[in-house]
Amino acid sequence: MRKNIILALLLVISFNIHSQESESPNIILMIGDGMGLTQITSGMYSNNNSTSLEDFQYVGLSKTHSYDNLVTDSAASGTAMSSGKKTQNKVLGLDHEGNPIKSILSICQDKGYSTALIATANILHATPAAFFANIDYRYNYKDIAVQMTKSGVNFFVGGGKKYFNSREDKRDLINEMTENGYEFVYNISDYEKSKSNYLGFFTAKDEPYYFYKGVNYSYREYDEPDYKEDELEDFTGKESYLASSTKATLNKLDEIGKPFFIMIEGAQIDWGGHDNDQDYMVSQFLEFNDTIEVVLEFAKRDKNTIVVVTADHETGGAAIVRGKLSDSTIKNRFVSTNHTASMVPVFSYGHKAHLFKGIYENTEIFNKLLSIVNQ
Ligand SMILES: [Zn+2]
Repeated sequence: MRKNIILALLLVISFNIHSQESESPNIILMIGDGMGLTQITSGMYSNNNSTSLEDFQYVGLSKTHSYDNLVTDSAASGTAMSSGKKTQNKVLGLDHEGNPIKSILSICQDKGYSTALIATANILHATPAAFFANIDYRYNYKDIAVQMTKSGVNFFVGGGKKYFNSREDKRDLINEMTENGYEFVYNISDYEKSKSNYLGFFTAKDEPYYFYKGVNYSYREYDEPDYKEDELEDFTGKESYLASSTKATLNKLDEIGKPFFIMIEGAQIDWGGHDNDQDYMVSQFLEFNDTIEVVLEFAKRDKNTIVVVTADHETGGAAIVRGKLSDSTIKNRFVSTNHTASMVPVFSYGHKAHLFKGIYENTEIFNKLLSIVNQ
């Protein structure tokens, strides 16, 4: 009898330990590159005075300056949010003295999390790379690609195939990763169908062309006189893929059954801002907004997820100078073709969302997420 009670107690204790482990919250971090208040407001008024961000529970403001510049770039601010240290512009995953620092993605992996990265840029671009790379120059794509092969990320979606298999050193990183258990696909339906838990979806050879609702808004940052058409090939046709691939990835992560960390970047809000092109900028916000809706749907159902939506910086110094509520039109003006130092909003929903209210440094986003992971 006594033995049975002890056995029962042991069972209860081990069940509790197990259920605590399985209750580690999922983390969904969404970064609208260059998404300041004007980008959000412009998208909202263009969208019948509505945005998915209105469903969030708390709003904060983040100070984006980097270690060496009041106006940050995406590498320094990505590193601040991914790894908790202010560093110099163009640096990824190193502190200001050049020491490698561990990202929240890598910390989550150590805790048994599944992980994923989705971007509408090439997957080695500064914002996604801030979560797995440790390198002093963000444009060193050939070395960042090698670091990606060692990242252990379960699912990734983005452009940049050529940095993996069209290399000066003749290495074929796609073959190398395939030998290590990865599968690669080139369209959304193959991505959805795949049963692999190590899966890459290349959306373009270089930077993805960008369509929203069938319209091409793409701005080619890398158009150079000698560019070759085939290097810019896009695998997604006329479909925007951010919302659909996010939905598929959340399903995959959920099926694995472990807690997960995912970073989703709307990269080209920034590129529209650099180009002072309001239609392009707003279209990219609206695609991001659709994706936020997909994420919120998941978080509301799951109930053990923290969703944080923020930006790395504002781009363009954009303002709304006129418009008309009744026909959802706005007119933007820009004061810059670069980033600005304005604070950016942070929206949070779900598990411990209250942590993200207030005004704080962008490095605090890492610290707050870490406190949730270490709860
Ligand atoms: Zn930018």
